[in-house]
Amino acid sequence: MRTRSRGQRVRDLLLSTDPRRRTLVSMALLALALMVSSACVMLMIAAADSAVDAAAVQWWAAISVGGLAVMTAFIRSGETARLKDPSLTVPQMVWTITSGAVAYVLAGDARGVVPSVLAMILFFGTFGLNVAEVIGIGVYALLAFACAVAATTRFNAGPFGYLDAAYALMVLIVLGGCIALNLRIQRIRRRLREQREALAQALAINRELATRDDLTGLPNRRAMHDMIELERRRSLRSGRPLQLAELDIDHFKHINDTHGHATGDRALQAFAGVVRACVRDTDVLARWGGEEFVLLLSETSAEDARELLERVRLAVAALEMQHPSGPLRVTVSIGLAQHRPGDTVELTLERADQALYTAKSLGRNRIVTAPPGPRAGQGPGAARSARA
Ligand code: GH3
Ligand code: MG
Ligand code: MG
Repeated sequence: MRTRSRGQRVRDLLLSTDPRRRTLVSMALLALALMVSSACVMLMIAAADSAVDAAAVQWWAAISVGGLAVMTAFIRSGETARLKDPSLTVPQMVWTITSGAVAYVLAGDARGVVPSVLAMILFFGTFGLNVAEVIGIGVYALLAFACAVAATTRFNAGPFGYLDAAYALMVLIVLGGCIALNLRIQRIRRRLREQREALAQALAINRELATRDDLTGLPNRRAMHDMIELERRRSLRSGRPLQLAELDIDHFKHINDTHGHATGDRALQAFAGVVRACVRDTDVLARWGGEEFVLLLSETSAEDARELLERVRLAVAALEMQHPSGPLRVTVSIGLAQHRPGDTVELTLERADQALYTAKSLGRNRIVTAPPGPRAGQGPGAARSARA
């Protein structure tokens, strides 16, 4: 097992190991850090300006930072994962805007710093909210700011000055900018989503093409290899027998040579259709290459497999393909091998191939079962070279 460094352990403890939650907690911690920085600025103002109520600013700082800290802890606990807004962006923004409005009242002559912080909050929220939420938050920010300006005018007993008007105007401008930016982000997100969907579709088509044989629609050799390997492991666990059969159309070259390649193609399609109609839904027929096919029969005894393959052999022999020169007929030779626990798939296929070779040499149009034979690593393993 990989050992984690102390830094990684601390990070995991702070942010959690869940990747999605890590992102949410990181964002919440960033908002918390910004709030702590703003609180420090306000405490500095309170220390420097005797007209500012220091006790009130300390209370304000504790409540503002505390509120965001509670929300961050809530996100870290994972409890927000079930919510529609797991990042708590809207509550965080409402809290921060309210805190900013109170700071505007408390900061006295230094209140000019507050609108810039407010602008930053709105700007940040733009990335996590939809258009309706940005407008909603914007309206709330304007109302909170209007209340703050009114309270400042009232408590500081001063008139509504040009500076307050300028600050209000600045918040309004930032709000407009945020809405425009949000619309653009939504457009980019939509385009990205569409591109992602198109890519997923292309990948699905690609996967289909990579695992299917064009001509017959059957799984190809590569896909079959994976399926056989899966069944081999399943058979090893369950102890139920697994059979592999190799099917090869007899004298197929003759069809091509006499009637043309297109007729040969139609014959391959017809052959695949007939074999599939004879086997169970759970059996898998794949095109192995050329006019060779492999049939995977899971949870099947050797006797049942032979019975099923005999049905296949008779159905193929009975198949009549229409052709201008008269109906065409084909026969099939089949080599059957039962997979032995501990053997490789390759060895079982080689035994089936050897049995097929025997079926061909005995006159074709027949099924030959591979003998139990030597175990993995002991056999000659030369079936293919014998046929070649
Ligand atoms: P055997 O009974 O010994 O199996 O004889 P065969 O003629 O069937 O075997 P051989 O291996 O000599 O010939 C196989 C032929 O299958 C040769 C090749 O042109 C043809 N073939 C392979 N793939 C395709 C295909 O996709 N379409 C068509 N039409 N023919 C194919
Ligand atoms: Mg053949
Ligand atoms: Mg062949």
